[in-house]
Amino acid sequence: MPAEIRPFEQSFNVEAEWDSPMFGLAQQQFTGAAKMMGLDENIYERLLFPQRTQIVSFPCRRDAYGEVETLFGYRVQHVLTMGPTKGGIRYHQDVNLGEVSALAMWMTWKCSLMRLPFGGAKGGVRIDPTQLSRAELQRLTRRYTMEIIDTIGPDRDIPAPDMGTNEQVMAWIMDTYSQQVGYAVPEVVTGKPTVLGGSHGRAEATGRGLCYLIGEAADHLGLELERCTAVVQGFGNVGSNAARFLSERGVRVIAVSDVSGGIYNQRGLSVGSLLDHVREHRTLENFPDCERISNDELLELECDILAPAALQNQITGENAGRIKCQILAEGANGPTTLEADAILDGNGVFVIPDILGNAGGVTASYFEWVQDTQSISWGIEEVNGRLRTLLVEAFKRTLQRSTSSGINMRSAALIEGIERVAQAKLLRGVFP
Ligand code: GLU
Repeated sequence: MPAEIRPFEQSFNVEAEWDSPMFGLAQQQFTGAAKMMGLDENIYERLLFPQRTQIVSFPCRRDAYGEVETLFGYRVQHVLTMGPTKGGIRYHQDVNLGEVSALAMWMTWKCSLMRLPFGGAKGGVRIDPTQLSRAELQRLTRRYTMEIIDTIGPDRDIPAPDMGTNEQVMAWIMDTYSQQVGYAVPEVVTGKPTVLGGSHGRAEATGRGLCYLIGEAADHLGLELERCTAVVQGFGNVGSNAARFLSERGVRVIAVSDVSGGIYNQRGLSVGSLLDHVREHRTLENFPDCERISNDELLELECDILAPAALQNQITGENAGRIKCQILAEGANGPTTLEADAILDGNGVFVIPDILGNAGGVTASYFEWVQDTQSISWGIEEVNGRLRTLLVEAFKRTLQRSTSSGINMRSAALIEGIERVAQAKLLRGVFP
C-alpha cells in the first residue's frame, strides 16, 4: 500500500492567481492616471497586463531528508521596452501571480519616474521564509534560480532583494547563475554583499532615500524636521533605516512596529537601542520603557510624518479618515488603497507615493549594475550624492506636475512614469 497521500494545501487556480486585490489596485491606479493624461488607447491596453509572466513549481527538500515540498514561484516582466527589466524577489506566504504582477507594474512606473534605463519586473516564491533553516533557504533559492535562469540575466532582467530576501539570498542567486554560465556574473543581481560586487550604500538606500524625500516634503510644507515627530510602521530593512536616518536628522521617532506589534513613547524612542534590540532578539518584543500598541493604533497616532514601511493595504477607506499625519511617506509598495487616497486628499495629507518614496532602493541598484558592468566601485559619498540628486529631481518634477495640473502627488508620479514609457513605445513602433 502506498503511504497516505497528503492533501495538497496550496490550491492552484489560474483565475484566483490573477484575481488579486493588489493587481486590481495597480490596474485601477494606472487606469485613473491614463484617463487623466489622455493616454493613447492602444498603449493603455499594452500596459494593463505584464508582457511576460513565468510560473514555476519546483521541489524544495527540507532538512528532514524525506520531506520534499512543492513550491510555487513567479517572475513577471511588465515592460521590455525601456531596457532590461528590474525588480526584487519576494519570499512570503501570500505571494501569488496578481501580487507579483502588481509589483512589476509599479516597478515600471518607478524606474521610469526615476529615468532609469529599465522596465519593471518582480519575482517571488510563496513560502514563509521565517520558518526555513539557512540550508533550506539556500536550496530553495538555488532551485528557484535554476527554474527562472533563462528569464534573468544582466542584459535581460536583474533581480534584487524585496520582502523576505536579503544580501545572502542575492549572493546565492549570483552564484547559481555564475555556475551555469561558467564565470562570475556579479551584474545579474543587485543588492549583493559588497565583496561580491554589491554597491556601497545599497542596503540602506531605500530608507535613506525616503528620508531625503521627507526632507524635501518638509521644506515644501514649511516644516522643520527638528520639530517633527515620526511614526514608522515596519522595522525591516526599509523601516529601520528610515527611522535611523530620520532620527539622525533630528526627527523624534515616537512609535515603530514589526510582526510582534507596535511600541510607543511620546518622548521619543532611541533608534540605536531599537536596532541593538532587534539585532539581539530578532523582534521588538520586550523593548523597555515604552507602551505596547496595536498596528491599527500606531497608524492613527498624531504625528507629523507617518511612514508605512511594511505590507500593502494598510491605509484603507476604513481607517484613512483617522490618519493624523501631515506627510504620508510610503516606504512599502501599495500601502494605500484608492478609497484611502481620496480621503487623504480631502484631509490635506501630503503623500510621497510609493513609486517615489521607495525608489531609493532601485536607484542604488541601478548604480550597482552600472558599477558592475564597468568593473568599478564608487565610494559611499558618490553613491549617496547621486542618490540624493536623482531623488530630489524626481520629487521636484512630481511636485511641479502635481501643482501645475492640480492633481495629487500619486497621480503626478504615475503620469511622470507612464508618459516616458508611452513615448518610448510610440517611437519604437509595433513589430512587425
Ligand atoms: N524590491 C525593491 C523595490 O520594490 C528594489 C528593486 C531593485 O532594487 O531592483 O523597489
